[in-house]
Amino acid sequence: MNVPDIIIAIDGYSSTGKSSFAKLLASRLGFLYLDSGALYRGVTLFAVESGLIDADGRIALPALKDALSSLDLHFVSEADGSKLYMGGRCIEKEIRSLAISDKVSPVSALPFVREYVDGILREAGRRRRIVMDGRDIGTTVFPDAELKIFMTADPMVRAERRAAELRAKGDEVEIGEVLRNLQERDRIDSSREVSPLTQAPDAIVLDNSNMTFEDQMDWILDILQKRICSK
Ligand code: C5P
Repeated sequence: MNVPDIIIAIDGYSSTGKSSFAKLLASRLGFLYLDSGALYRGVTLFAVESGLIDADGRIALPALKDALSSLDLHFVSEADGSKLYMGGRCIEKEIRSLAISDKVSPVSALPFVREYVDGILREAGRRRRIVMDGRDIGTTVFPDAELKIFMTADPMVRAERRAAELRAKGDEVEIGEVLRNLQERDRIDSSREVSPLTQAPDAIVLDNSNMTFEDQMDWILDILQKRICSK
């Protein structure tokens, strides 16, 4: 398919499979893939490891804000996909833990954290030909994205998928704990003041509760063909 130089924004609720969908789509199109949630998770890991979040989740705001000016988060393309690095260290495994999932939403609600991440995202999207997933890509980061998808799925289906993913990585998790985490993240993400999770008016909804990856690919490739390539 001959797709022009566009930005595809994939937003939606937690654990709806945005990253897997966006990654597969990018590879089918020969586009770059960028996982914006990984950057919020990276900032959260950094804050935890630097002692800037205490056990009750209290964040040392001025210290974190200062520290961000020298925080180096970047993606490195490896044989099995793109990985997030903090300086010279790969932090992919650590950022996906439930401990970080539990703390990331309050961190990502901070305006100075969003500014830091948005800078990295906008730079990456300058040359377009990118699929980016997150919560506010189509509303705030790239409101001019040519194609916007808003993903949703039944919460129990989402929790089961996420638990299976964590277990496959060796994390012993309980389904109720995973469900609570994703519902709490959705609540905080949707109600925060800056860039809340909301469907852009021009986004197309994808409810993948009962869809396989291949069903989802057929659906999006059909949309691309009809709305983008035939223009
Ligand atoms: O996509 P993922 O679940 O890895 O994102 C982790 C968290 O990062 C979300 O729960 C949300 O709090 C935050 N996030 C955000 N804006 C984005 C992407 C992620 O606030 N564009």
